[in-house]
Amino acid sequence: MCRVLVFGKNGQVGRELQRSLNLMEDAVFLGREDEGGDLLDIKGMVSRIRKEKPEIIFNAAAYTAVDAAENDKETAKRVNYDAVATIANVCKELNCILIHYSTDHVFNGSGNQPWKESDSTDPINVYGSSKELGERAIIESGCRGYIFRTSWVYSVHGKNFVKTMLQLAKSKKNIRVVCDQFGTPTSAAFIADVSTYLAFYRQTYGVEVFNLVPNGCISWYDFASFIFSNIREKPSSPILKPVKTAEYHTVAPRPLNCRLDNSKLINVLPMDAIKNWDFYAQQVLNILLNSKE
Ligand code: NDP
Repeated sequence: MCRVLVFGKNGQVGRELQRSLNLMEDAVFLGREDEGGDLLDIKGMVSRIRKEKPEIIFNAAAYTAVDAAENDKETAKRVNYDAVATIANVCKELNCILIHYSTDHVFNGSGNQPWKESDSTDPINVYGSSKELGERAIIESGCRGYIFRTSWVYSVHGKNFVKTMLQLAKSKKNIRVVCDQFGTPTSAAFIADVSTYLAFYRQTYGVEVFNLVPNGCISWYDFASFIFSNIREKPSSPILKPVKTAEYHTVAPRPLNCRLDNSKLINVLPMDAIKNWDFYAQQVLNILLNSKE
């Protein structure tokens, strides 16, 4: 049995890791409320890692509030860079594999081609910069493991676009959704399953970066249309209005092109393991629409 330590147990990916890793008797899941689970408390975190002596660490904890990060640069950096650098260095020292998650926001969003793992990063917001620093620190640490860049994460748990749209549908007649940002909606369950599979079944000798998204690319507007097409009581389905990013103010600038090329991932997984984004979105929508909340 392999000893596993997971940071960020209450997040979207963290919750799904609890499911993916549920057969592991030796898995310890930490949220920020647990001893050594707060990434802002580096000393406590390190001593918990040393105490558990894990063979694999999954770091699903992150400062993910993209807009809030613009005015809270220091905290974003401490969580997404300082803590990550420390975890990576301890992993190197303990010969522990590190599974870390990163983002499409490390790219500047130019062009319309999917970003490859080898493309140059150039973040345009504080969140993206802090995540990019975290990636670099892991690579420089010389530890073994994976950096999984993903995008547009949603799940049954937590706050996300799918749940926001379903909530808005109950109260709003008209909803404006951005139509010129493109990417791939990615289910946290899919992220957890793929990263668990690679952590356990594939040998890694250094740090490898993988884009971890399903197939296909759409806009947020397309995604909202898909969500609303699933609402059975049609009268409560709102009218969607496409808007350009330039007309839709957010505190943090958003990259327009968030497409991630997943061909490297496809090559290391069993045939047909990755499906189109709507396959996973349908599963989550079915659960959410059938729940009584
Ligand atoms: P969530 O925001 O759902 O979860 C992040 C978790 O990190 C939360 O449980 C949060 O705790 C925890 N956290 C924040 N600060 C600390 C801290 N100081 N110490 C310990 N834990 C902390 O994120 P996701 O599950 O969606 O994201 C997983 C990964 O995927 C992240 O690395 C993220 O950058 C990346 N990603 C996410 C995208 C998205 O759309 N969400 C898109 C692209 C990449 P608490 O619950 O207490 O706040």
